[in-house]
Amino acid sequence: MEIKIYGNRGSIPVPGELSVKYGGNTPCVRVCNDNGKNYLILDAGSGIRELGNEIVRQNRIKNIDIIITHSHWDHIQGLPFFKPLYTEGFLVNVYAPGDTMKIVEDIINIQMLPKYFPVGPEVFKSKIKYFNLEEGKPFEIKSFKLNSIQNHHSPGTFSYKVSSKDKSFVFMTDNEIYFEAEKNKTPDLETVARLNKDLIDFCKGTDLLIHDMMYTPEDYRERIGWGHSCTKSAAYFASLVNPGKLIYFHYDPDYTDEQIDEIVDEAQSLLSELNDKIESFPSKQNLTITLK
Ligand SMILES: [Zn+2]
Ligand SMILES: [Zn+2]
Repeated sequence: MEIKIYGNRGSIPVPGELSVKYGGNTPCVRVCNDNGKNYLILDAGSGIRELGNEIVRQNRIKNIDIIITHSHWDHIQGLPFFKPLYTEGFLVNVYAPGDTMKIVEDIINIQMLPKYFPVGPEVFKSKIKYFNLEEGKPFEIKSFKLNSIQNHHSPGTFSYKVSSKDKSFVFMTDNEIYFEAEKNKTPDLETVARLNKDLIDFCKGTDLLIHDMMYTPEDYRERIGWGHSCTKSAAYFASLVNPGKLIYFHYDPDYTDEQIDEIVDEAQSLLSELNDKIESFPSKQNLTITLK
């Protein structure tokens, strides 16, 4: 299984000289298996634009599956710019948590209303189908097996476990690792273990965990309850999950490359004290990880 990052930034795209190293596109990840014969797309942030151009250029796989974690703007804003939708011969299947988006079609249709976008979905040339997902109900797409869990973010946000043959990875972006903020403004290991048991169990045994690490602990203190994690909680959580590899994801849009270097160093040194078997690294645009 091969995982490639097309977008990893939280909240809003940040082009420019301060985001050259880690990239400025909002979340989009492609997962391939069977030597690239099949793939899935997770989330449709601004990173999906470039991926769509690549798919049309290659003109190889016409059946595309996009799985959405939740409908926050940074996870769906790239859809109207996804070229296969405007190209004959493609079939685009969009999957999303059903509870919050009673009709998944709203993801596309609302953001293409005339007040927001010059043309509506009637200009699409591909076929498009929508599927509502139920939490905890396993499903299969192509030769991938998937499952979902509601995480700690706005209601109806899912994390996904994607498995293929004997490998798996968990995509857990936009997740606030719980702790008792009213008692102590800093997460601690024991509380993280106790309050996040469902998510830890869901991730256990995975070869790769991609997890939200939006803030430094200092910035996080001002944003408790905003649905994101800091370096400390991400390291504690990962040490309990014990994945083969950990990738830090969904950086604050205000952080420069230099600041991300610092938060990654901080998380890595804490993690190595807690569990030195986990290989952890920062997500970057175009980073490709192969699980074999
Ligand atoms: Zn987000
Ligand atoms: Zn979100």
